[in-house]
Amino acid sequence: MSGALLSLEDVSASYGRVRALFGVSLEVAEGEAVALLGANGAGKSTTLRAISGVIRPEGRVVFDGKRIDRLAPDSIARLGVAHVPEGRGLFPSLSVIENLKTGTFVRAATERPAGIERVLDLFPVLRERPGQLAGTLSGGEQQMLAIARGLVSEPRLLLVDELSLGLAPTIVGKLFALIPSITESGTAVLLVEQFVAQALGVARRAYVLESGRVAWTGTTEALAGRREFVEASYLGRADGGRRRNAGAPEFTERVQVQVPVGELRALQRRAAADGRSIEDLLAERVIERGRP
Ligand code: ATP
Repeated sequence: MSGALLSLEDVSASYGRVRALFGVSLEVAEGEAVALLGANGAGKSTTLRAISGVIRPEGRVVFDGKRIDRLAPDSIARLGVAHVPEGRGLFPSLSVIENLKTGTFVRAATERPAGIERVLDLFPVLRERPGQLAGTLSGGEQQMLAIARGLVSEPRLLLVDELSLGLAPTIVGKLFALIPSITESGTAVLLVEQFVAQALGVARRAYVLESGRVAWTGTTEALAGRREFVEASYLGRADGGRRRNAGAPEFTERVQVQVPVGELRALQRRAAADGRSIEDLLAERVIERGRP
């Protein structure tokens, strides 16, 4: 795509000796919503950090025709990139308004009050409680505040990491419903998400990361037709389970199953809580159901 607002060209990144990204290339057009999907540890957050300058990648990151991969995070923010990090990055002991003010540093002092007014229009629940400490807001309200703080500078690109983290599905639905109004106002959105169905509902295109590499990219309609692939990616098995099966005893056989995305998340939670694999839980359920 020529003339993209953002392009990553062959971007790699490491944490010390641990390499997290291996030659990732992706693009986001002006005003476009793009989803970045993949299993835990696939490199989604690292990709966002490489864009906003939190980590310094190898390769090229070009924003609005300018190379930004050697710039400091505040310089990248001033160019119009806002990053809502995983865990929200709010100041819990500061009020709603004070948190919003921390997002306005990239604008001229005279433009700051208008920026705050605009986001309070978008999030009336925040307007109702300007003095409330961020740490005392509900999870959904805190996520709204984090997005509002990102938008207060009127960025041209908003990077959102795990909008849904720790939130009830109904709240997640309400937050996702805001994305179209953000892109319509001219801000492109690059969205890292575990709620695949919701992300695909608002994004035009998607990239699926697998072990630090782009495993698939295309329109969200095309990806919706490859549900099995997406679900496998979220189990960390976009390779069809080859790696996991490599050391398996000979008497086991690999099978593929389709699991609704909502049920998959419940399984992931239960597997994490019980310290077991999702495959074991599924197998157990099938055997239980099959009993006379
Ligand atoms: P998740 O959904 O679990 O956050 P992710 O796709 O966002 O997953 P990243 O957080 O980008 O994945 O992690 C990619 C790889 O980099 C993983 O192997 C992870 O362990 C490693 N990594 C991430 N952050 C750090 C860090 N601060 N220090 C060292 N290694 C890290």
